[in-house]
This record gives sequence, structure tokens and C-alpha cells, in this order.
Amino acid sequence: MRCLERSLTHRLEMSDLGSILVTGKRDPANAARDAHDLGSVIEPIYTSTTFARDENHELHVRSRSGKSVCYSRPDNPTVATCEEILCALEDGADCALVSSGMAAVNAVLEGVVGGGGDERCVLAPTRGYFAVRAFLKEWCASRRVNLIEYDPDYPYVAYGAENERLVVDCPENTPKNGHNAGVSIYNCMYNADHYGKRISLIWIESPANPTWDVVDLRRVVRTARALGHGCICVDSTVMTPCLVKPLTLGCDIVMHSATKYINGHGDVVAGALVTREKNENWRKILHVRQLGGAVLGSFDAYLLLRGMRTLDLRVQRQSESALWLARSMQESDMFNGFDVLYIGLPSHLQHDVARRLFQEGLYGGMLSIVLLPEWLQGQWDAKGRRGRVGLGDLVSFCKLVATRSTVWTCATSLGGFESLIEHRYSVECAPGEQNPHVPAGLLRLSVGLENKEDLLLGLEKGVLAALDSI
Ligand code: PLP
Repeated sequence: MRCLERSLTHRLEMSDLGSILVTGKRDPANAARDAHDLGSVIEPIYTSTTFARDENHELHVRSRSGKSVCYSRPDNPTVATCEEILCALEDGADCALVSSGMAAVNAVLEGVVGGGGDERCVLAPTRGYFAVRAFLKEWCASRRVNLIEYDPDYPYVAYGAENERLVVDCPENTPKNGHNAGVSIYNCMYNADHYGKRISLIWIESPANPTWDVVDLRRVVRTARALGHGCICVDSTVMTPCLVKPLTLGCDIVMHSATKYINGHGDVVAGALVTREKNENWRKILHVRQLGGAVLGSFDAYLLLRGMRTLDLRVQRQSESALWLARSMQESDMFNGFDVLYIGLPSHLQHDVARRLFQEGLYGGMLSIVLLPEWLQGQWDAKGRRGRVGLGDLVSFCKLVATRSTVWTCATSLGGFESLIEHRYSVECAPGEQNPHVPAGLLRLSVGLENKEDLLLGLEKGVLAALDSI
């Protein structure tokens, strides 16, 4: 009998992503016990800010998690249900939802680095979501924390400016992906070690928005552990747990702008953190959330729960459509004036790393196309226009493609059910900036759930409309 019970329990421990998303690790047969004894199939929205104590002044305990419920800032049951599902998806030990992706970044910085002494170091990429980079810079400068920057598409251990280590592997013609080849994440770790510094926080965004540089998470974990560096936090907003689970590769914390794929319906701003271990760093992060107060409301948590049910289906379809679009554009004459940046294409510099990292041959729904100035020049010349194509001309052409494409909406954000296109240089860079971190000709594409042929047609219309304007 004990044996039978054990095997039943085992069977009820769901491991499939789709099952966890739909039933929330709940045994459907016990739904009645889980929700007010009413048999509610859908998690209720607990709007109550406070919860009554019993005659012994004890708090009630949630049947699902065994945690007591006191007050909604730290303990809202709807939020907790959502956290349990995200925690299970990432194979973590605990999850904390917060009011936005940026609130999650703040909680990690304050919790992991905030209380340290004068020798604190943070390692972060030179490219990635611009608000996170700006915030990391401001936060570190205002607290006298040493911010070391690495080049996320530079995969080699080589001589850095002050590095006395031997070259491990650095081929002659190191690819530069159109950016300045800088110092790799590994070099930074070795350099810090050489000068006796321990890095408190290693920040990774992979693939990095909007150029989609991929970091070899396994190798970063190996190097950081060997050198005794600290917490590795991965902004996994674009990967989602459907494609990569960084905690299972040894990273410490996963961060999501849950505003994006996790919700997927463009109607919630939220952030999520999931930890591999409930350690001192995690205790401090929870403390920052509880006392800083950037918590998620129960209505938003409910919408997240609802959006997450289809996460794996959305990511699968969006990944398949993105790959098809990327291939189609690479092969189509209509787009021969553009470089296609998609990690699922063998032409992407880190495709091999991505292939080893990403599960089931799916590479996500984000890609970019980069307009080539020489192609635009050719179009000008063919139409008898005089002069050389300048930065402003590139920008105007791209903005026209973005706004004249049909099916696609020209708007900020990503990861929703609807396809979005945006000219990131106009959003992120000062007009005329000489060394922009985003190529001036880059258009970021977030592939939604529409028919893929319609999406390609919509983009073609944008390119044709922009060409007509020359
Ligand atoms: N990280 C990435 C990769 C993002 O794309 C964003 C937002 O676009 C954020 C973090 C910030 O998240 P939020 O807008 O939810 O604060």
C-alpha cells in the first residue's frame, strides 16, 4: 500500500511544462480543498489586504503551500499561486513577483550588492536592454560600486588591457558582429581575480536585446565558480523557461520582465525573480521587496496566471514563425538590403552556443533586421538621387519601414501575442549619436501569433512603401 501511495505521489508530481502551466502543480482531484472548499477550478482573486487570526491569534495556513497568510504586501495568495508556478517552471527553490521588470533589477542590486563594503564589483554587458544598462550605471555610480563591462558577443579569453594571463583561444580574425570587439566576460572575471577582486554580481542578458548576443551560461558558471566570484543573475525575459532554464545550468537567479512573454497579452507590467537556493542573497531580496514595497497586485497576478497558461504554446509558435521569417528574409530579394540577426540562423555568430543552450531547436520569437547603407545608396543612385546616404537617411528609411508595414504594430515592448516592430536607435539613442550601441539601421521585430505569411507580406509592404518615398 505504501508503495502504491509513493508511486501515485510520484505520478502526481508533474514535470511537463504544459501540465504545470495549466494546473499549477495542483492535483485537479483536490481542487475543492485548494480553493475555499468550493471546487473552484480557477484560482480566485484575493483582493483582501489582510487576513483574520484565529482564537489563538494564529494565522491561517494556505493549503497549497503551507505558508501562513497575514497581510497582502508580503503574502497575497493569488500572487503566491503565480509564484509557485513560475518557480516550478524554472526548477527553482523560490520565486518573488514584483511590480515591474525594473523593480526586479532593483531588488537584485539592493539585495545582492547593496549592503557590501567598498570593494564591491558588478559585472554587466555593454549591450542589452537600455533601461537596465542605464540603471546599472547610475546605481553603481551613486553607491561607489565598481562596474566592469564585458562585450557580450566576444567569446574568447584573450589579453585584456591589463591582463597578464596566457591567451587561451583567440583566433586571428575574431568576429566583431559590427560592434567594437571588447573584452569578454571571461577576461573580466580573470582580470578581477588577477587584481584580487571578487565580483559580487554577474549580470547576464541572453540573448541581449536588440542584437541578440548569446552568452554561454555553462561556461560562465564554470569560470565564476573556479574563481570564487559571486551571484550570477540572468535576465531571461527573451528566453523564457520554455527554451532555457538557467538555474539548472548552475546560475543563481533568473529575472524576468513578466510584462513580456510570461504574461504575453500586453496588459500587465510585472517582474519576477526565481532563485536556485534560498540563501542569504535571497533572504535580502525578499527583504527589499517586503520593505521597499514594490509588490504585485492580486488583479495583475490573476492576469499573469491567465496569460501564462498558454506560454509554451505561444513560445513554440512564435519561435517557429520567427525562424521561418528569418530564413525567408535571408533568401528573399526584397530583403537583400538587410542583415538578419536571429540566433536560430547558422549565420548568427553565436548560433553554435545557442544550439547547445536552447531546447528542442526553438530559438524564441525575437529577431532584428539591419539596413545596409550601401544597399540604400544603390537604391538612391538607381533613382538618380544625388549625394551620399547619411545617418539621417538611414533613420528616416527605417522609420518608414516600421510605420508602413502592415500586420505589424510600430510600438515598444515585446513578447506579446501581437507582432511589434520598432526602430530602436530612435528610441534609445541621442539624435546623431556618433557611436551608438544600437546600429542606426536596426529594426527590432517581436513575432506574434499571426499567420507567418501575412507577417512577411506586411514587412514587404513596409519596405516597398519606404522605397517609394526615395
Ligand atoms: N529586461 C528586458 C530584456 C526588457 O526587455 C525589459 C523591458 O523592455 C526589462 C528588463 C524591464 O522590464 P519592465 O518594463 O517590466 O520594467
